[in-house]
Formats: sequence, structure tokens, C-alpha cells
Amino acid sequence: LSDKLQNAFGKLKSKGKLSEKDVKDAMREVKLALLEADVNFKVVKEFIKKVQERCVGQEVMQSLTPGQHVIKIVNEELTALMGDVQSKIMISSKPPTVIMMVGLQGAGKTTTSGKLGGYLKKQGKKPLLVACDVYRPAAIKQLQVVGEKLDIPVFSMGDKENPVNIAKAGFEHAKANSNDIVIIDTAGRLHVDELLMDELKNIKAEVKPHEILLTVDAMTGQDAVNVAESFNEALGIDGVVLTKLDGDTRGGAALSIRAVTNKPIKFIGMGEKLDDIEPFHPDRMASRILGMGDVLSLIEKAQETVDLEEAKKLEQKLRKQEFDFEDLLSQFEQIQKMGSMEKILGMMPGMGQLKDQLGNVDLNGKEMKRTKAIIQSMTIEERRNPSILNASRKKRIAKGSGTSVQDVNRLIKQLNEMKKMMKMFTGMTGGKGKKKRGG
Ligand code: GDP
Ligand code: MG
Repeated sequence: LSDKLQNAFGKLKSKGKLSEKDVKDAMREVKLALLEADVNFKVVKEFIKKVQERCVGQEVMQSLTPGQHVIKIVNEELTALMGDVQSKIMISSKPPTVIMMVGLQGAGKTTTSGKLGGYLKKQGKKPLLVACDVYRPAAIKQLQVVGEKLDIPVFSMGDKENPVNIAKAGFEHAKANSNDIVIIDTAGRLHVDELLMDELKNIKAEVKPHEILLTVDAMTGQDAVNVAESFNEALGIDGVVLTKLDGDTRGGAALSIRAVTNKPIKFIGMGEKLDDIEPFHPDRMASRILGMGDVLSLIEKAQETVDLEEAKKLEQKLRKQEFDFEDLLSQFEQIQKMGSMEKILGMMPGMGQLKDQLGNVDLNGKEMKRTKAIIQSMTIEERRNPSILNASRKKRIAKGSGTSVQDVNRLIKQLNEMKKMMKMFTGMTGGKGKKKRGG
């Protein structure tokens, strides 16, 4: 989706003045891109209409950078489509807050229950996970494993008890053990059916959750939106967690859910690991879709894992155009802490296309050790100024690091690719990166 939209806007950006026809042509491309990304048809129609109306206005047509203006409008409307502001989960003033996780089988309820517990625990809460899926084999065990990993208690009564009773007992257990958050992991079905809804309604009636969160799989595209509509009609939901956005999704679900159900996406799942959860920010998602990257999420992620001071340094490094082997080495550890390179690149502006080229920088495996060894075999001078690396130096480095000259060459090439990437990054975010080293 990003690539397609960037294409459409690329043409606009190169124009000095825009005619109504230019805007129309661009909008046709945007429309196709959205439809192709599996965005709901009605949503697309409304969206294009709104954007077009705003774009042919005086202000845009006469501005000096009409292309930028159009992009800004598209960005704003995309953001509005997803609900403008970030929707937080409701925390009750009278604990425990009860959060009920619902959704189809395989959508990610159990994983998300854990992720959410971990997320809230980081904020100083004391969550309890309650195992109400008594149907799927090993579902209880799965939640227990998740709880163990996160050091969060799991309440269960085996698979013979009625889920409604388990939910109720779990709630009482939380009160008795001063858990201020109760996360109820319920069963799913392959499709929306009455039996499932009845059970969920009964649990809802019994424990009166403050928050019913529907988990939907972003990879199912338009189906995710239909599922959200059905659950909302039958049960009433308070928000949506959109999982598997890390996968090869077309983004359509993220754009349509709010517009179709009028319920906000509150969190997104970005991977299988238990800390791969992020609050959903409509504005950041819009920028991500438009290919402007998600610098704020990147910085936030950095702050979470490294301390503030280090995060600032990292930001500077990332913004710096002159990125040398020394930087690379000293940043490896930080970056390693933040997760995969691929994920970081995914959050950076315009990196979508470059990701494939660089995604295979394996940060934890053998490759990484080798890379470090190569850099460590360089002199400081060589690290700072890779251009002096001639054949004999390369030979020496290869020998010192137990690698081959090809390996050294490959790393140099990678650094150059990264430098190019950093250049793009700074170019697109205001170009503060022209500062000289040490300045
Ligand atoms: P449930 O049936 O709704 O409880 O779904 P599970 O929590 O068991 O998850 C189903 C599968 O989806 C598991 O293999 C999870 O690891 C995977 N999964 C859940 N959330 C995400 C996510 O955000 N990204 C990715 N890539 N996988 C996820
Ligand atoms: Mg489950």
C-alpha cells in the first residue's frame, strides 16, 4: 500500500501547480491502492470524496507546494478515518478492572492476553490472567506458559468447569489477591456462531467487564472487518486489538475497522513475542501507510528498552549521515535490545523498499558475531574512515577476524547501504542530519 501511494504522490510532488485533473488522477490511483489493500469499498468512496473536495480548494491549488499539501490532506483524512486520537483502555477507579478478550480461533486472544498483561504490568499494575477457554486442547496450558514467561499469575479451574463460573471465580480470586487487572482469555470458534456468542454474553453478564476487547487478525483483511461488525452487533465491544500487523498484511483492516464499526483499534500486535504490542496511534499509522515511517514509535521503543540518554544518542546516530563502523559497532548492542533490524527499518521513513536489502542483517546469530569480529579487527582509523580500506588492509582484517576478504567487502557494502538509507531518512524528516561529526 505504501509503495503504491508513494507512487501516486511522486507524480504530484514533481508538479509546480496542480490542475483539477492532476488531483483527480492522483485520487484515482489512491483509490485503487486502497481497494487493492482490501479497504472496505464504502469507506474508500467516502474517503476519496472527502479528500478530493478538500484538495481542489483554493488554498491547495494556489500553494507553492501543492503536492505536499495533498499528501498532508490525505494524511489527515487517513488519521481521521482511524479515529484521530489514541484510544486508551478504560481503567476502573474501583479495581479490579476487568478486561474480556474475545475473538475467533487463532486471532491471537491468548497471546494478546499475555502481551496486554505484560504491558500493564510494566505500568505498575498487578494483572491476573483467567483461563476460560475450556475447549481448545492445551489452551489452558498455553496461557499458563505465557503467564510464567511474564511472571503473571494465571487462574484456571481445568477444562471441566463452565467458563462463566471460571470467569466469576477468577474475578473473586483477583479481589482476594489484590490483583487490580483481570484479563479473561475466552474461547474462540472458527466462525462467528450463536453458541460462542451466547457463552460470551453469559460471561459478560456475570463479570460485567469494563472493557471487551476484540482480537482480529489483520492478515484476514476484509474478513477482520466483518468479524468486528458481527461481534459488535452481537456482544458489543469497546475496542479492537489488531494482531499480526508484522506480517505481510495489506493494511486494509486497520483503515476500515473504525469507519465500519465505530469502535477504535486500541492496540496492535507486531509479532509473536510477548512484548510485541503497541498502543494504536491513528496519526502514526497514517504516516506509516503513507510511507513516512513511524519515527515516534521508533523513539518510544528505544526509550522503553534503553535509557533516555542512550535513546537520544541513538536518535542522533540514526539521523546522522556519516555513519561509520564505530557507530555501527556501538549501536549494535542498543539495536539488539530493541528487537530485529527488520522491525526497526519498518518503522523508519521510506524503508519499506530497502528492508529486503538489509533485512538479512541477522542481529543475533553467527553473522552478527562475524560482523563484530570484522569491525573489531579494524583500527580506529579504519573504522572512522572506511574509504582507506585497501586490499592489504582488508586482507589483514580478514585474517584477524577469521573471515575472508569477501566477508569484509560485504560488510563495507552493507555500511554503504546503511549510509544511503540514513541519508534518505534525514532527507525525509527535515534534513537536520547535515551536521558534521562531533558538531
Ligand atoms: P487464539 O486462538 O485467539 O487464542 O490465538 P493465539 O493467541 O493462540 O495465537 C494464534 C497464533 O497467532 C499463535 O501462533 C501466535 O503466536 C500468533 N500471533 C498472535 N499475535 C500475533 C502477532 O501480533 N504477530 C504474529 N506474527 N503472530 C501472532
Ligand atoms: Mg486461545
